[in-house]
Amino acid sequence: MTIEEGDAVLARCEGNTFEGVLMPSTTGTTVVKLKNGYNMGFKPDNVTLELIGKKSDMTGAKVALPGPNPDLPNISILSTGGTIASKVDYRTGAVTSQFTAEDILLAIPELTTIANYHARVCYSILSENMRPEYWVKLAEEVYNEIKAGADGVIITHGTDTMMYTAAAIAFMIETPVPIVFVGSQRSADRPSSDNAMNAICAAKVATSDIAEVTLVMHGTTSDDHCLIHRGTKVRKMHTSRRDAFQSINSRPLGRVEYPSGEITTYLEHARRGERELSINTNIEPRCTLVKYTPGASPEALLFASANYKGIVLEGTGLGHVSTEWIPFIERTIEAGIPVIVTSQCISGRVCDRVYDTGRDILKAGAVEGEDMLPEVALVKLMWALGQTSDIDEVWKLMTTDMAGEITRSSRTWGVYS
Ligand code: ASP
Repeated sequence: MTIEEGDAVLARCEGNTFEGVLMPSTTGTTVVKLKNGYNMGFKPDNVTLELIGKKSDMTGAKVALPGPNPDLPNISILSTGGTIASKVDYRTGAVTSQFTAEDILLAIPELTTIANYHARVCYSILSENMRPEYWVKLAEEVYNEIKAGADGVIITHGTDTMMYTAAAIAFMIETPVPIVFVGSQRSADRPSSDNAMNAICAAKVATSDIAEVTLVMHGTTSDDHCLIHRGTKVRKMHTSRRDAFQSINSRPLGRVEYPSGEITTYLEHARRGERELSINTNIEPRCTLVKYTPGASPEALLFASANYKGIVLEGTGLGHVSTEWIPFIERTIEAGIPVIVTSQCISGRVCDRVYDTGRDILKAGAVEGEDMLPEVALVKLMWALGQTSDIDEVWKLMTTDMAGEITRSSRTWGVYS
């Protein structure tokens, strides 16, 4: 039988044997993707290949999911794409988003012992391609699943922008059941993949009493527990580590032990059935985040105010910009465009009453974003401007805690994991 790209092979070279998948090559070398995820190149006349599995046999076989168990809760999985739903494309070697939500269940059979699932694909995108309009459609899908009787919803999502979507859903939906975001930093074909453990812990949270929008991901680099983060208080803090997500300015809401699934909570939280289901997806997507840097031209603000309806400033320290920016802030606010000040320190609370530059920002009419993460303030501003165009009402919404995004106690400042 001829060996083709994508087939499983044993590659023998100079007395060593390597098991992997034959990859495409543009350089004339024979490339095999090893089980640890790395590609190994061989000179073609230095290697012999033995076929151990045809690609069609490996990808074609479908195992039937077990039928519903009436003793288990019913969970909806909405898939949006990302690494958790990715596999290697053997034509290009790239990681692409191809799995359906059902494929996730077939790949992680342990999930079927926790709940019955109704799985739907909403999007098949890498999360860098997510857009505010897609949050709206996703919120509607989540709402429909809960209305139809789901005991919890899991949203599988790329990790890059998962915290923006989690915050958007937290502002848009009041939920009587858990809504859990989950992703993975390493794709399923890598031995260090975090997808199975994250998904299993997410299912545990989706069947728990935590009726909030949360994000569940690895708590350490080991496979020992996942953390449960509030959807409005979490940030991706590392490009590649499996424990990349951390709660900021708040403890995590809790943790899930792996593999036991035992849940411990650290914070007060909304409980199952406590709140009525409701949805409000009106948003104004034309909002932007402007980062102040030393020497940055205040004309950045002129551009922003000509093109956007609301601006979140990422200032320095306690929430500052240079003195030359102040008149531009004033003009922006006079034009009816709200300016919210957050800090590029990420941890801590904005306080513009300490230094002159801060007091001047407040005098110009800007509002302090408290201890909100800049990106959460941005999502919230889009949502607030979707509710009202009255600037005083927008200020009121922006300084009121709507979904756990503002922590009043200064004791909770910092990065928590
Ligand atoms: N770039 C990918 C995404 O956000 C990374 C991931 O899924 O973890 O979709």
